[in-house]
Amino acid sequence: MTPIAERASSVVVVGGGIVALATAWLLQCRGHRVRLIAPDAQGPDAGECRSGSAAALGVLMAQVFQRSRGRAWRLRQTSLSLWAQWRQELAGRGCPIPFQAGLLLLARETADAERLQQLQEERQAQGLPLSWWEPAQLEEQGLAGASQGGLHSALDGQLDPLAAMDAFRRDGLRQGLELVNERVLALERQPGGWRVHGHSSAQASEAAWLVVAAGLASEELLDPLGHQRPLQPVLGQCLELATAAALPWPCPVVWQGLNLVPRPGGGLWLGATLEPGDQADLDLLEPMQQLAATAPGCGWLGEATVNHRWQGLRARPVGRPAPLLEPLEPGLLLLSGHYRNGVLLAPASAQWAVEQIEASLTCR
Ligand SMILES: Cc1cc2nc3c(=O)[nH]c(=O)nc-3n(C[C@H](O)[C@H](O)[C@H](O)COP(=O)(O)OP(=O)(O)OC[C@H]3O[C@@H](n4cnc5c(N)ncnc54)[C@H](O)[C@@H]3O)c2cc1C
Repeated sequence: MTPIAERASSVVVVGGGIVALATAWLLQCRGHRVRLIAPDAQGPDAGECRSGSAAALGVLMAQVFQRSRGRAWRLRQTSLSLWAQWRQELAGRGCPIPFQAGLLLLARETADAERLQQLQEERQAQGLPLSWWEPAQLEEQGLAGASQGGLHSALDGQLDPLAAMDAFRRDGLRQGLELVNERVLALERQPGGWRVHGHSSAQASEAAWLVVAAGLASEELLDPLGHQRPLQPVLGQCLELATAAALPWPCPVVWQGLNLVPRPGGGLWLGATLEPGDQADLDLLEPMQQLAATAPGCGWLGEATVNHRWQGLRARPVGRPAPLLEPLEPGLLLLSGHYRNGVLLAPASAQWAVEQIEASLTCR
């Protein structure tokens, strides 16, 4: 990535999820002066703030997206190819992000199979490597059972969101990124820039550009500035189930809207529930596990021991399409409302923010 140091800007990024970290990292790589402000995930402020990134399963669904054109399709394609580039770049700098290549969408009924096969034909016509796996082929991969076949996408996959955030943080710090661990309380307009007031700093942070990427909290931070962007919390619960050994599956599996993600050393991540609001309903976990057990070759899942349960909040925009990538006024960008695909869309969101900032420098 070519730094643009001679035309650098100062930027404060508010938020500590994957979207904020990817944006801060990319801006830092491009030679801007970046300060990222967010509560320490382990600190006393963490309970008050809501993060989806720490809860996410990291499934990247770009090629198997049902639409083939429009903004959502373009963002997904851009992001998938940026993830491939960035993973390579970060690995070369000692910050690897574990990635499982491929995604297998299993069809339960004939109608599912027909829909998925039609998608495969469309993607093949676009030159994308999606293939149809017959039940016999699934059986060879440890997925024998009541399935009408499956759509395999070689370029989609799954990455570890915590490792990705850690990679952005570590490589960003190495390049001069400033991290401030505190909750932002207020944003204030200044001539030619912004002042950001934090929970504990004696001194406010100042910058020419302000990027608000604080997930659900973005709404309350922007409201006093006259920007109403309502966001609805949608809670998701996940389970880690024990397995006797590492699963022989070729890649993560999607069954009936559930993601089944084999863990490299054994175990399986299963999720996620979709619960409007911010209160977890524990009664949804047993049915989720039983639904997963109806996947081909997964009967044993119904009795599997739960090693771990966790939850997180997604930010769903009200009355606007996800995600919200908006220049709200000079020097102010909003990156939020990623709802169910923030891990996938973090790179395209970060790139969009960088383009906005650099376009303004070019116009000077
Ligand atoms: C259970 C679950 C599973 C998911 N699985 C997937 C998946 O497989 N693939 C996928 O692509 N997406 C998935 N998602 C969605 C994805 O997690 C989100 O879209 C994504 O994490 C959004 O990232 P974000 O950085 O915008 O927000 P968040 O991760 O919510 O981060 C918000 C950040 O803002 C900080 N903050 C809050 N208030 C303040 C404040 N006042 N000042 C400063 N900072 C503040 C928080 O501390 C946090 O760090 C899943 C989500 C959930 C809940």
